[in-house]
Amino acid sequence: MKQRIFWNIFLSSLIAALLLGGVVLLAKDRSYEKLVFSDLTAECEYVEAGLLSAVDENAFLESLPTQDRVTLIDVDGTVVFDTAKDAATLENHANRPEVVEAQNYGEGTSSRFSDTQLIRNFYYAKKLADNRILRVATSEQSVLSMVSNMIPTMLLVLVAIAVVSILFARYAAKTIVQPINALDLDNPLGNATYDELAPLLTGMERQRREIANRMCALSEKQREFTAVTENMREGFILLDSNDRMLAINGSAASIFGADAKSVKGAYVLMLNRSVALQQAIEAAKKEGSGQATLIRGANTYQVLASIVTDNQMSAGMVILILDITDRIAAEQMRREFSANVSHELKTPLTSILGYAEIMRDGVAKPEDTRRFAGKIYSEASQLMSLIEDIIRLSQLDEKTSLPEMVPVDLKAICEDVSQRLQPHAEKAGVTLNVNCEEASVYGIPKILEEIVLNLIDNAVKYNTSNGSVGVTLKTVDHHVELRVSDTGIGIPEEHLSRVFERFYRVDRSRNKQIGGTGLGLSIVKHSVETLGATLQLESKLGIGTTVTIVFPPLLK
Ligand code: ADP
Repeated sequence: MKQRIFWNIFLSSLIAALLLGGVVLLAKDRSYEKLVFSDLTAECEYVEAGLLSAVDENAFLESLPTQDRVTLIDVDGTVVFDTAKDAATLENHANRPEVVEAQNYGEGTSSRFSDTQLIRNFYYAKKLADNRILRVATSEQSVLSMVSNMIPTMLLVLVAIAVVSILFARYAAKTIVQPINALDLDNPLGNATYDELAPLLTGMERQRREIANRMCALSEKQREFTAVTENMREGFILLDSNDRMLAINGSAASIFGADAKSVKGAYVLMLNRSVALQQAIEAAKKEGSGQATLIRGANTYQVLASIVTDNQMSAGMVILILDITDRIAAEQMRREFSANVSHELKTPLTSILGYAEIMRDGVAKPEDTRRFAGKIYSEASQLMSLIEDIIRLSQLDEKTSLPEMVPVDLKAICEDVSQRLQPHAEKAGVTLNVNCEEASVYGIPKILEEIVLNLIDNAVKYNTSNGSVGVTLKTVDHHVELRVSDTGIGIPEEHLSRVFERFYRVDRSRNKQIGGTGLGLSIVKHSVETLGATLQLESKLGIGTTVTIVFPPLLK
């Protein structure tokens, strides 16, 4: 733009200067012509006067100074005398325009260019009293020749004009463009500039607002999308039709150990080249959706891929990656549990069947019958507690069948359970020390009772005679803390992490004697999780065991 303005101004100034020069030259030429003719008229009158008073015409004419040409022409056009050339050699002048004009009107003028156009001849003719024509002529340089003579000067003037117009054009272009360059496009209406730009600036402001609104809506949508995908625990990847990642959430990136920002835009196979992912993608491309199981480290994932269509054309793909490690583990546990349950049930049943068979066949001595009946009773009791524990566990597994949580007086439960187990403890020679502060927790009374019962029962069961069990309940930082500790046999360190597994027992033979099911601690752990509490187990072999449960604060 600056260039255009510059050239426009520069060329206009140049053309204007040239035109002005031309006009001045022409005007000068006109006034010059007038001057020449007035000089010629005066000269002619002077010669005419001379002729009239001359005794010898020829002698007078010859005595005239020779810078202007004087010609005397007869009535018929024959040249009588000419100061420049021999009259006899000159052709008839009757048809010369100035001569014709003089014959008709008394005087005549004309001007003619020489052959080269560089010399211009001016003629003034006057009809004398005797009808002869007296013509005076002078020659001057033509305008063309003047112009050609003036070329160096003109060039100089032109250069001067060019320099001045360049400087002016530069300055003008700069001054015109400067306010345009200084426009604040972020605030078009705040610019005080040319009125002609007002419609443009108003349009810009409108568009700016429209763009801002659209950007706002777009970023709002982007925020919503990011908020949704980033809060997903599942991995989420959005692919374009070329398998490049348009979006990838934090979960997906961390599953594949990548940085979400840096992998965005890359091919999905650069993220992970596993067969499972490729299978899911290929199946989705062929059938619209596909799935596969992906194993990464200790975790198992389910990959679900679905084609996204736009006007029945594939526009990309959505990939969801679900962590199914827990589900797989739960399935595995359920399978193992079923096998264990069958085994656990079979053991007391076999025993019961054996004793019952002996008694039925009358093989048992009468003094043994009572003992066998006692065995059958204890095996059946074991079976019963096993079945009760299994029912309790499956209730905990099926969370839906659990009653609602309510505030429960945990101190009352602890004291009640301790009282119930007191005879049992006395029988085992174990002292029960109960030290409970007033404390209520949010929970299910039956489940809380189960927890306390299992913990105190274990503390008594796995104790030594003259040992002791401590049950304490206190509130620390709004959290209720239940602690059951014993001075019993303790749990070897390598078993500590496994005692919460279903049917896990440290010492099977000892367990058999005391009648444990191997499900007590599993029920405790499951119950604690159901109530949103935390559990901690500390044990030293031969010294004792402490189980601490911390409940969440009771909401008021
Ligand atoms: P069980 O019904 O056999 O007692 P649990 O699930 O309650 O089953 O306990 C699992 C195993 O953990 C027990 O067999 C026992 O070996 C060990 N155990 C549990 N509590 C204690 C404790 N207070 N002291 C020592 N060992 C314990």
